[in-house]
Amino acid sequence: MKTIGLIGGMSWESTIPYYRTINETVRELCGGLHSARLVLVSVDFDEVERLQRAGDWDSAGLLLADCARRLERAGADFVVLCTNTMHKVAPAIEAATRIPLFHIADPTAEAIRAAGLRKVGLLGTRFTMEQDFYRARLETRHGLEVVVPDEAGRALVHRVIYDELCQGRVLDASREAYRAVIRELVAAGADSVILGCTEIALLVGPADSPVPVFDTTALHARKAAEFALR
Ligand code: GLU
Repeated sequence: MKTIGLIGGMSWESTIPYYRTINETVRELCGGLHSARLVLVSVDFDEVERLQRAGDWDSAGLLLADCARRLERAGADFVVLCTNTMHKVAPAIEAATRIPLFHIADPTAEAIRAAGLRKVGLLGTRFTMEQDFYRARLETRHGLEVVVPDEAGRALVHRVIYDELCQGRVLDASREAYRAVIRELVAAGADSVILGCTEIALLVGPADSPVPVFDTTALHARKAAEFALR
């Protein structure tokens, strides 16, 4: 079994389901008392969020590259970055070590393609919904078409992530608001929805959407465990 290196804490609310899903997958596939070999480096998310807000992605890249080096020194065989947004600095992380980064967009896109779907609605932070680092990977590498909410929808989805979900607050009113955004994505032609922020599954799931939803946290964690066992 390979040792999984997790970079977590972005936010820690969503690092918990990673730990659980990885271990549940290893138990399911290996049985008995088996559990995952892993190392976790967990950051102070306040520091990361300030860098995001300032647009200082170079410093954020240095910070996470240092996390990856610490994982490598601790014996990790590959890196799992437990956030969609910070994959913006994936190149800096990849350049910092000899071990590979298991990119969150890939298992997600593969699951969507395997389900025969191809026009995805993308929910996430503004960075994830509006910038190219994530969408382009879905589109050019995986042949998906990506639709995002309108400006008001993006503002709402982003605000709920930082002001509520990352602070452990899961509100019914926000669930209703997310449902409305999902309905708009479906009206715009989406045949599937990516929960492209690792906290969103704390708020909505399959029951909140008329089309299949793909939770990046669950898919990333499960596929990382399967990769560790390969
Ligand atoms: N966990 C979130 C994500 O998957 C947002 C927090 C962050 O900006 O890292 O994008």
